[in-house]
Amino acid sequence: MVITEKAPAKINLSLDTPMRYLDGLPKWDMVMTSIDLADYLTIEIHDHPQTIKVYTDSGFLPNDQRNLAYQAAHMLKTRFHQAAGVTIRIQKNIPVAAGLGGGSSDAAAVLRGLNRGWKLGLSLAELAKLSLSIDSDVPYCVYSRTAHVTGHGEVVTPLPAVPHDWVVVAKPKISVSTPTILRQINYEQLAHLDNQALIAAMEAGDWQGAVAKMDNVLEPVTERQYPQIAHLKAKMTKLGAAHAQMSGTGPTVFALCKSESRAKRIYNGLRGFCNEVYQVVLL
Ligand code: ATP
Repeated sequence: MVITEKAPAKINLSLDTPMRYLDGLPKWDMVMTSIDLADYLTIEIHDHPQTIKVYTDSGFLPNDQRNLAYQAAHMLKTRFHQAAGVTIRIQKNIPVAAGLGGGSSDAAAVLRGLNRGWKLGLSLAELAKLSLSIDSDVPYCVYSRTAHVTGHGEVVTPLPAVPHDWVVVAKPKISVSTPTILRQINYEQLAHLDNQALIAAMEAGDWQGAVAKMDNVLEPVTERQYPQIAHLKAKMTKLGAAHAQMSGTGPTVFALCKSESRAKRIYNGLRGFCNEVYQVVLL
């Protein structure tokens, strides 16, 4: 049996962390949504061999148990005592280690696909709960729809769909290690966000009001090391973005645009400056 799944990238419309838990991990307070930049997975379930194999068309990614898609398949296979083998092929379109949750979305796609293929009958909420052990962004990616995400990442509360605004996503040519950025957070110096006001605006359908409340408290932390991020944001704003912001721990920056023509102008303006630029829409 062969199953296909789409794994969309996520962006953080807002990102805050009120505290660090005793386990050292951040407590999150984020509003996330997904964009139509996606990886595509085919998941084959077979009787022989009874092992898990991962293939990707990206030279940068591990194909073994370090791949989050492998971890997702392994977790469901052992937990639900499935003897069958699984072969996963990933067509990788989402930039890696970019703050776009590509690995998490691949893992979530494997969970959704195997849940169908093995007829496990798990709800998205049940899959999301199981998935936290893989990575903090996987529970959100199981849903891949606009949501408020709290706790370690496991509390995912769906929000109304956002307008299908145009988005330009640009990844500067730098690699940012999420654990390194998280270790550098000084909670005493962090300026916090009013995510409740953002959510209220989204629930009232006031998109302009919502955009005014979007922010990412980790921007100054990542920008300290990588000034390219601030430059990209300034360039997007100058070219007419309604809002420009870093996603996750970076380094990807996104611009929200009211019109396709504005998005095109930003896309064209950035292409000579940054080699990974995408013009997409909010899903
Ligand atoms: P995070 O913020 O969770 O670190 P990210 O969006 O910044 O995520 P990813 O593209 O998910 O970045 O990659 C993070 C790390 O996960 C990389 O070091 C990468 O090698 C590893 N990884 C494992 N499996 C995958 C996968 N299927 N796709 C992308 N990265 C993967």
